[in-house]
Amino acid sequence: MLSRREFLKICANLSAAVCGSNMLVNNIAHGMMKLTDHEKPEVVFLQGQACSGCTMSMMYGNESSFVDFITRIIKLQVHPSLSFSDGEDYFERLNRAVDKGGYILVVEGSVPMKMKKACMIAGLPLGDILEEVIRRSKAVVMSGTCSANGGIPASGRNEVGAVSVEKYMEMKRLIKPYIKIAGCPSHPDRLMGTVAYMASMNKIPKKTEEKTPALYYEELIHNRCSRFQYFSQDIYLKDFEKEKHTCLLKKGCRGTITKSDCPTRRWNGSVNVCIESNTPCVGCINPSWPFKKDIYLDADSVEDIPWAVLKEKVRAD
Ligand code: SF4
Ligand code: SF4
Repeated sequence: MLSRREFLKICANLSAAVCGSNMLVNNIAHGMMKLTDHEKPEVVFLQGQACSGCTMSMMYGNESSFVDFITRIIKLQVHPSLSFSDGEDYFERLNRAVDKGGYILVVEGSVPMKMKKACMIAGLPLGDILEEVIRRSKAVVMSGTCSANGGIPASGRNEVGAVSVEKYMEMKRLIKPYIKIAGCPSHPDRLMGTVAYMASMNKIPKKTEEKTPALYYEELIHNRCSRFQYFSQDIYLKDFEKEKHTCLLKKGCRGTITKSDCPTRRWNGSVNVCIESNTPCVGCINPSWPFKKDIYLDADSVEDIPWAVLKEKVRAD
């Protein structure tokens, strides 16, 4: 049995994960107390064309504890990487959950619709079984950019016809509440915080235009970047070896067109974030990622162009 102090600590951690502060502690505590009276939400994980990076990221955690998440907040029904069951055994557990229905479905990865055998579960193409799994769910959480927007599998020539789960739902005319946790990988706080919010509030959090949770994805990275002062003085990094703090725009940074709280939330136990390790943001959260031409803005094309002009170019590229 948890003490009141332990219980409030979990709620405070969750609130920090959801909105980066303790401001939702009371709401979440109230929601969680209801959860102890009734059933915790059942959660089903499914993996499509993905690298498992989103699951690894979730397990690593940041502000949020993965163990608290799966033991105190949700009732984990089945996960292809975390369950001991695999193949037909996994499929049997999945089918049991689907028969019961009413679960929160978390999908990682995209769905191949042209070459369906490119992603199989227990001998069946994902594209054939996903429809029923979505239909029987209460809500869908698209974890990671592949699931949310197609990502790497849907880029380039896309021989297998990979589509995002959102596109799949559109193709199959599936109407369900859904939310996208874009990112390559999805950030542990954003994924577990969103599911925890859904568990405690019994609704999907407020969404941005891109269908991501507004709590995490409302503001441009650029606006909160620690290098913004250099950008505003037109001081751009030229030599990675010699400069460690100046603006990375002319090295192809896509923080100017990507909305997320990466600069403040940070990664790997809040140790760092791409830009602070002197790496331009590749915009892995951006709906257009990994972009048509190059993962970074083309350095030659942005050199010596004033920001007012470049802004339009960056949007169109
Ligand atoms: S262009 Fe990139 S490095 Fe420069 S201020 Fe904006 S987000 Fe930061
Ligand atoms: S800073 Fe950019 S590349 Fe790095 S995780 Fe955030 S959106 Fe992705």
